[in-house]
Amino acid sequence: MFKDFAEAAAFVQKNHIQMVDLKFSDLWGRWHHVTISASEFEPELMEAGVGFDGSSVGLKSVKSGDMVLVPDLSTGFVDPFWEAPTLSFICNTFEADTKKLFARDPREILRRSEAYMQANGIGDHTLWGPEFEFYVFNNVCIENSVHTASYRVDSIEANWNTCSGGHGHYIPIHGGYHAIPPRDQLFNLRTQMVTRLEQIGIPVKYHHHEVGGPGQSEIETPLMGMLTAADASMCIKYITKMVAHNAGQSVTFLPKPLYGEAGSGMHFHQQMFKGGVNAFYDASSPMLLSETALYYIGGLLTHAPAVLAFTNPSTNSYRRLVPGFEAPVNAFFSTGNRSAAIRIPKYATQPDKVRFEFRPPDATCNPYLAMAAQLMAGLDGIRRKIDPTAAGFGPINEDIFSWSSEKRATIKSLPTSLLEALQALREDHQFLLEGGVFDEILINDWIKAKEKEDIAVRTRPHPYEIEMYYDL
Ligand code: GLU
Ligand code: MG
Ligand code: MG
Repeated sequence: MFKDFAEAAAFVQKNHIQMVDLKFSDLWGRWHHVTISASEFEPELMEAGVGFDGSSVGLKSVKSGDMVLVPDLSTGFVDPFWEAPTLSFICNTFEADTKKLFARDPREILRRSEAYMQANGIGDHTLWGPEFEFYVFNNVCIENSVHTASYRVDSIEANWNTCSGGHGHYIPIHGGYHAIPPRDQLFNLRTQMVTRLEQIGIPVKYHHHEVGGPGQSEIETPLMGMLTAADASMCIKYITKMVAHNAGQSVTFLPKPLYGEAGSGMHFHQQMFKGGVNAFYDASSPMLLSETALYYIGGLLTHAPAVLAFTNPSTNSYRRLVPGFEAPVNAFFSTGNRSAAIRIPKYATQPDKVRFEFRPPDATCNPYLAMAAQLMAGLDGIRRKIDPTAAGFGPINEDIFSWSSEKRATIKSLPTSLLEALQALREDHQFLLEGGVFDEILINDWIKAKEKEDIAVRTRPHPYEIEMYYDL
């Protein structure tokens, strides 16, 4: 939004801004914030920053947690939710003593991944289009889904009358795809979300009810530059949650909140540009994909199990990656096929539009790390010229779930649990270390922390176990 401090300060003056809010992501992709009075918004801020404890947000160890936040002035937006006029910035994090940019800041890791691509002459920039699927529940629904519906199909239906606000409109199981009002009770809410997003400068392609029962929604953006798309992802999660909260409802990006119902993904459309043209496009290739795009796909599918440790980093992520709900289970690419890990949209055929989407990710990821990991896997494919067809990744345009299990076993599976993905990351992460983009410490910390989450879930008695075995 602003090109320098003077421009930002003039905006503060002119718009009677009272509070300046500094937002930053922890290692896991959750925003935190600290708010300063507008009178403290002085040029020194850009040098001295505002101190915070990096060890409380997973960025640093306890013994040396001191860090400072410095606003990235280009990210400024007027936060639409607060009584006092508030200007928000997404921040970069710096070492408190040396004032050097913190090497493991998620935004910095993302920047380094694109810089690595540029330094190797592979591409000039990338474009990314994240898709956001989420459920909207009212409080009664959350209560029900946490305690019952996640585990029992029969209770979902009872739940849904509550979700749809008791207005007598009812979307049956799997019946929500592009549902029209009055069945779609969320039109106004999504429109409010989109209006807020546009107000703060985030373009939206469309919004609609998704295929799940009442409550599943989708908001999609056009393709944007890499850092812009990751920052926008943080804003989209914030705005959607806040708009729902203010309407007495709640948004969840949990990948699989309801058993037996569609999960919520965060597919990433991606493109690479070189010399002003789409490096993924080749008019003479059958799928219109250039050799560069195919090698990128080869890299992404080869490293997919390890990449999923960043793109699908919660225990719940793997409850979504099961057959039957348009979520991918196997590592292959395809045109059109929504059970593929990589889908090449059939409708995107113009030279500047040709692209593909990587479908496994979900929005429990840290978008900065998830995007950097995808790009590094793709770049490794280009570097090593990994032909996805020779590597056994398709293209497959058939419904693989109609195949025999023997035939299906010939296609590589995606991880079926967080532990499997973490093990894959442990064994396969050299591609992330290239160019110093990720480092061993971060990868080890990530694995350790995520293994703890797995243990926390695995060692808890599960309500459905109680149902199955209580009186055995
Ligand atoms: N909800 C599906 C998923 O979990 C995707 C549906 C779609 O293709 O939009 O990925
Ligand atoms: Mg969708
Ligand atoms: Mg999609």
